[in-house]
Amino acid sequence: MYACGPTVYNYPHIGNMRKYIADDVLVRVLRQNNFEVQRFVNITDVGHLTQDEFDTGEDKIVAAARREGKSPLAIAEFYSQAFFTDVDQLNVLPPESYIKASDHIPEMQQLTTRLIKKGHAYVSNGRVYFDVCSFEPYGRLSGNTVAQLQERVRAELKKEVFEQKRNPADFALWIKAEANHILQWPSPWGAGYPGWHIECAAMILKHLGDTIDVHTGGEDHIFPHHEDEIAEAQAATGKPLARTWLHVRHLFVEGKKMSKRAGTFIRVEDIKAKGFHPLAFRFLVLGTHYRSHLNFTWRSMRSAQEGWLRYVETIRKLREMQATAQKNDSPPAELLSRLKRIDVDFDKALNDDLATPRALAASSELIGVSNTHLAGHAGLSTINALLERFLHMDELLGLLPHFDEQLSDNEQKNLYDLLAERTRLRAAKEYAKADAVRESLQKMGYELQEHDLHIRWTKIATGQSGTFTP
Ligand code: AMP
Ligand code: ZN
Repeated sequence: MYACGPTVYNYPHIGNMRKYIADDVLVRVLRQNNFEVQRFVNITDVGHLTQDEFDTGEDKIVAAARREGKSPLAIAEFYSQAFFTDVDQLNVLPPESYIKASDHIPEMQQLTTRLIKKGHAYVSNGRVYFDVCSFEPYGRLSGNTVAQLQERVRAELKKEVFEQKRNPADFALWIKAEANHILQWPSPWGAGYPGWHIECAAMILKHLGDTIDVHTGGEDHIFPHHEDEIAEAQAATGKPLARTWLHVRHLFVEGKKMSKRAGTFIRVEDIKAKGFHPLAFRFLVLGTHYRSHLNFTWRSMRSAQEGWLRYVETIRKLREMQATAQKNDSPPAELLSRLKRIDVDFDKALNDDLATPRALAASSELIGVSNTHLAGHAGLSTINALLERFLHMDELLGLLPHFDEQLSDNEQKNLYDLLAERTRLRAAKEYAKADAVRESLQKMGYELQEHDLHIRWTKIATGQSGTFTP
């Protein structure tokens, strides 16, 4: 599975987060159905132009570097961290791998060369363009025809760009850099930088093969981004790029598109600043099907927080009672059959195109049933039966806070200092010392799963876990 990730030129907003939550639910549901999932998420740190549909504008990272007086690398690192923090707070499980576009320039150049050799791309004035008329299925994903696209683009194209192209709808694979452009690499076509779409195509072919099972993105990616990825990959390999596409509808704020100027650009931090838990936002997102528009309002945020609290509190109460329950009992048969039906409804909902609103309705029914039994001094077996159902649900919904926040301050500081130390030693290639740090963490009872850009830790004794990003 390949999930288009963030362009790291600015803070991610809650619309972006909707898409990563949808990816996360999909992964959880696939695993529940015994699929082995390998998810790659790219970090776009080069090549995404401000007006990508018309191959004009400026690289978004370069523009941010100028605006903030920092290097492109510093910009990308800063906003990548902001992204990791947000997805972690929202219980989005980390993918198997994060991959950076700027680490794959050679692969993008190789794919470009392959397309030129096969007659699908041509060099023009230092740029390399994909010839959309050379690829018969172009437009199929987005329901466009080449003729319609030519018309749409023609009016918008700057004269100098128009004159460089064979067809107005052709798009750039490689872009010549001006002498003072700060992000550029040597290439057979002169110094420059890649187009945005070739990143994803090249990274998929490299890491996941010619055809993947699932490719995801927001609805704005259908055209041009995914249409162009398909053209690049399929023209090169002769095989379809993805068997299934999943596109998440946009989140709107008070009925408007997300934009800084309209004051509708909302971050997870803004939600927290108003006293909401990030996972209450996850609850809100799950309340709308991913293929419907979601209109975020502060009023809906308040009611989501109420719903989320009811869920978390019910589970907390059950856990408390589990610890203190005196008598054993045998749960009434009618309760067990009701739980069974709730379970079936829940699984059916998620297996039916990820119908999260229906899954939440099943969880709400379980809350009702639990509260009835909690009031009536339930015994241990009843409590266990209820809790077991909740924990199954939460494997898929991911609404319980993970226990990061419940390590004591001291314990967390200790752990994170050691993880930082291990990261530093590894970067300095002092592997023996780095391994000694790992061993002492294991002796302290932590299990580590190390990925390129983050470390997932679990405290075995308690099951507490979290993500450390250096
Ligand atoms: P970007 O960082 O702009 O490349 O976007 C990251 C992801 O968020 C992409 O998959 C976009 O399609 C998606 N996205 C952008 N805006 C929204 C929105 N308002 N609602 C839902 N998804 C969005
Ligand atoms: Zn992409």
